[in-house]
Amino acid sequence: MKPAPFTRHVPHTVDEAVKILSEVAPQDGRVLAGGQSLVPIMAFRMARPAHLVDINEVAGLDKLKVENGKLIIGARVRHAAFHKPVTPGPLGALLSNVVRNIAHYPIRMRGTFCGSLAHADPASEWCLTAATLDAELVAKSVRGERVIAAKDFFGGIMSTALDEDELLAEARLPDLPAGTTSGFNEFNRRAGDFALAASLAVYRLDGGKMTDVRVGLGGVEDRPRRIAEAEQALQGQPPGDAVFRAAAQAAARAVDPLEDNQTSAEYRRDLTRAVVRRALEQANT
Ligand SMILES: Cc1cc2nc3c(=O)[nH]c(=O)nc-3n(C[C@H](O)[C@H](O)[C@H](O)COP(=O)(O)OP(=O)(O)OC[C@H]3O[C@@H](n4cnc5c(N)ncnc54)[C@H](O)[C@@H]3O)c2cc1C
Repeated sequence: MKPAPFTRHVPHTVDEAVKILSEVAPQDGRVLAGGQSLVPIMAFRMARPAHLVDINEVAGLDKLKVENGKLIIGARVRHAAFHKPVTPGPLGALLSNVVRNIAHYPIRMRGTFCGSLAHADPASEWCLTAATLDAELVAKSVRGERVIAAKDFFGGIMSTALDEDELLAEARLPDLPAGTTSGFNEFNRRAGDFALAASLAVYRLDGGKMTDVRVGLGGVEDRPRRIAEAEQALQGQPPGDAVFRAAAQAAARAVDPLEDNQTSAEYRRDLTRAVVRRALEQANT
């Protein structure tokens, strides 16, 4: 099928983009970023926006740099930008480890980091990264700018705190201190598919014990989140098999997994145990 008819707008500044968005949002006008999620659902006519606000020529949205201890990722920054570390420290390594799990190479060349957050698939690797690292999301509209914490941004399956006329202009991730280590693991049935479960584990060693522990989980519940029970099992402990298994078990107990016609909640709970343990093991290598 072909998409229903629509008008494409091509603003060149953020002010212009949010002005058009405010005018067309009531007619289901939407932002077009990489088009890797929006265009397929338009082709299936599951979405019929009358207007698309194409942000690919908006100046300044290609920013990708560390400022004041935060990595700024503008709305035009594509997944492929992270194939190589974007900063020399642990954050650059973490992002280039995660990115290779997203879809396939051609999709990574077009799809954007912020587009993934705005789309809010519960299994998205970038949504999991944003939740685990407590990202700040910067939303702009004709009313001004607001900064939304990742824990308040994801509202459920493909649902966010963005208003219909808001542009997610940039995401900010904390630049991780030297000595931070991380591991990522996901399970899917075919390479390139969305994960049935994914985990990102991050910690730093202080005197041989884990500190600043973060354990994030995606694909299991309706939104990605940090799992406090797993983090508590690790904090202040030396890394090792027994404590990793205890944390994975704590995560499996803590979750309320989604079910679908192919995957039971119990299966996703088992996957939770596996991906959390494997992410922690990778962080420890
Ligand atoms: C075969 C296939 C496999 C895939 N596998 C994965 C996978 O394993 N993991 C994964 O995470 N993703 C996967 N994707 C999705 C892909 O990563 C998309 O690139 C991503 O979800 C959306 O980014 P985009 O820039 O293409 O957004 P678009 O498709 O342009 O937009 C998606 C939605 O977000 C809105 N939007 C986009 N940018 C903004 C913004 N800045 N502000 C406000 N709203 C905005 C749009 O209006 C639209 O509603 C897959 C896609 C395909 C086709």
